[in-house]
Order: sequence, then structure tokens, then C-alpha cells
Amino acid sequence: MPPENTTWPGHQAFLDKARVFDDADPLASFRERFHMPPRGEEACLYFTGNSLGLQPVGASDIIQGELEDWRKYGVEAHFEGRRPWVSYHKEATHDLAAIMGAQPREVVAMNALTVNLHLLLISFYRPEGRRTKLMIEAGAFPSDRYAALSQLRLHGLDPEENLIELAPREGEHTLRTEDITDRIAAEGDRLACVMLCGVQYYTGQWMPMAEVTAAAHAVGATCGFDLAHAAGNVPLQLHDWKVDFACWCGYKYLNGGPGCTAGAFVHERHAQKPELPRLEGWWGHAESRRFKMEPDFDLMPGAEGWQTSNAPVMNMAALLASLAEFRAAGMDRLRHKSIALTAFLEEGIMAVAQDTGDTLEILTPSDPDARGCQLSIVAHGHGKALFEHLTENGVIVDWREPAVIRMAPVPLYNSFADVARFLGILDDGLRRDT
Ligand SMILES: *Cc1c(COP(=O)(O)O)cnc(C)c1O
Repeated sequence: MPPENTTWPGHQAFLDKARVFDDADPLASFRERFHMPPRGEEACLYFTGNSLGLQPVGASDIIQGELEDWRKYGVEAHFEGRRPWVSYHKEATHDLAAIMGAQPREVVAMNALTVNLHLLLISFYRPEGRRTKLMIEAGAFPSDRYAALSQLRLHGLDPEENLIELAPREGEHTLRTEDITDRIAAEGDRLACVMLCGVQYYTGQWMPMAEVTAAAHAVGATCGFDLAHAAGNVPLQLHDWKVDFACWCGYKYLNGGPGCTAGAFVHERHAQKPELPRLEGWWGHAESRRFKMEPDFDLMPGAEGWQTSNAPVMNMAALLASLAEFRAAGMDRLRHKSIALTAFLEEGIMAVAQDTGDTLEILTPSDPDARGCQLSIVAHGHGKALFEHLTENGVIVDWREPAVIRMAPVPLYNSFADVARFLGILDDGLRRDT
């Protein structure tokens, strides 16, 4: 990697500053708790924790432990295992609740993200009479839009009339709070459910979740969030914000590994509502009598009542290793570092743009309260050659045509030095690609 010998005169100042910040970082040692993928002799510069979080060093022991219990006990590991499989999902509950700002009985680890989104929409998107509309954001992650459209069709509703896709103002990239809440108020009793992302995957905007929830409730609609890019990234208070439902995946900022078990949140006030329609399965049946194999469904209270199947143990094992790191680091300290790390990247991008004369536009809001760690950067006038330069120099970022770099400096395992080195490589790449 050619890090410290760029032609950019300002680079040394960023490298020096990074050293000072890293020396003072109380979370610096957490980097050693994750496997940074190698590029040749060195570690790469990994900025795609928003897509797939890195492997926790502790994952291997936990997975090996489950394999061993399977070898030793067979089916009896459901009760005899070191982490009994029958209640395996509960191993994640307390840590997930802390990350989500929820009561333990409001969260459950289960299924995959889009599956959970469907299960929750079945319960919380209940079009009736005039109240039929479902609101999402324009440019939503495709899976969420597909889920929304198919839910509308499930109710026999025309998406043209019943799907609202909130778009930013002309010439803007992100949604203004008042535009969201005004639109919700304007839809009034036509609106059944608001289902936005927590942090938008493309722009990195952190939605004003508390305000959106309050606005939805004021018109009698339910409100839920897809937290794929928010979980483990920004501090959440789902309980206090009175969010009705939420779901997330385990493999992005939560570092649970590919296909990791996802999660769901259902607010306590919906904990005991057998009348709420849902798709039922035996894992949502009263726990104490589950193995009596009774023919009639007896609902478990809380988020666990939305479970259908038994816990996917292997898909959750690595997540437990990562959650232990979150517990040790704490969301408050992670957020504190995250704000500084992303501000450092932002300052660096501006300095690089000034040095090379390029227009580097940041789509992500500059207000820390309106973003997590990700920045989405447009390198105007550049193309794939810039991306290839980054890749050749060991930088892993997400690239979208024409020239959008989405990158996430993750406070658990990225350092200020990672960012400073990236800036040098970016500066070089921009100079070469003209
Ligand atoms: C990553 C992501 C998904 C992926 O869905 P899976 O069900 O986990 O495959 C869906 N929605 C959003 C907003 C995402 O960011």
C-alpha cells in the first residue's frame, strides 16, 4: 500500500492528527477483537461494515462450542448444551435490547430481515375503510419496496393509490423533517402505516425517528422502521419514542456474519394482544407448554409471540460474539467515537477536494444528529478508474455508478489512521484519473 508518500502536501497533517486521536481513543483495542481482511502483507482499509461487518475473533469459539455440543448431545443439546438451543435466541435479548433502547421483552432475534418486515407489516399495516395508505421513502432499499408493494396487493389494494413514496425536495438528497411530518399530517386518516428506514442505506440519512413516530400517531397511523443501517450504528430509543415495530439484520453493523439471524422489536403496549392478526407458528406458542404439542395456539406475550420457528442456532452464534463486544464498548462510547471519526473523514474529504480541485459532494447530511457513521460521496467527473485505484490500493468501499462512494468508518474496528490513509489514496486517485 502506498500510504505515507503521497504528493498531497496536506496529507501529513491528517496522518499526524490521526495518530493523536488513535492514541487517545479508549476503544482502540477493540480493533484487535475483529479480523481485518488482509491485502497482501498488510490489512486492507475496510469501510464496508455497513454491508457486512467483520468477523469477531470470538465467533470461532462459540461456533465450535455449538458443533461440539451437537457432537456430544445430539438432540439433547436443546436442553443440555452450554447455551441450551431451546432458548438460544434469548442469549441475544439483553444486548439487543440495550442497542435498540428497548425493554428485553420488546425484542427478539429471529428469521431474516425481510421476513420480519413482512411478519410485522401483517400485524401493523391493517388497512380499513378510508385508512388504507402505506408510507415509505422514495429510493428505499429494493427489498423494502417489494415487501410494501406485495403487502398492498395482499390486501387487494392498488399501489398507485395506496403507496406513498416520500421524496426529497427538488435538488436535495435527503428528507427534511417538516416535509415528512407535514405529509403525514396531510394524509391524515387515509394513512394506515408509516414504515421508513432508520438510516437510509444510500444517503446515510438518519431519519428523525421520534418526530416521525409522533406525527404518525397523531393521525392514528402505526409507525415502524427498518433498522438495517441503524442497528449498532446510531443510538436508538425505540421504547421511549413509542415506535410500534422495527426490524433489522444481524450482518451489517452487528457483525453477525453472512445470513445472520435478524431481529424484531414490538413495543410493550402491543405485548398482549391476541386479537392482533399475525402469522403464527409453534415458537410463538406459550413457552411453558410448547412441547405438549397442543392443537390450539396460545400466544406468548411480547415480541417473542411473533416467532414462528425454532432458533437458527448456527446463524446466531457469531452474533453472540459481536454482541459481547458491543456490551464491552457500550453504545455511548461507540457513538462518541463515531461522531469524531466521521467528522474527521468529512473534514478530510473537503481538504482533498480543495487540494485536487475536484468537486466531492457529500450526499449525507452534515448534521451529526441526522447521520450515523456512513458518508455517501459523489466524485463528480470521475468513474470506475477511481474505484479501481482505491481497490488496487487496498481500500474496500461500496461503489455505485456513476461515481458514488458509500463508506462507513465503523467505530468498533476502524481507526483514525485508516481514514487518514484512505484520504491519501483518494487524493492520488483523483489526481491520476483526470
Ligand atoms: C441490507 C438491507 C436489506 C436486506 O434484506 P435481507 O432480508 O437481510 O436480505 C433489506 N432492507 C434494507 C433497508 C437493507 O439495508
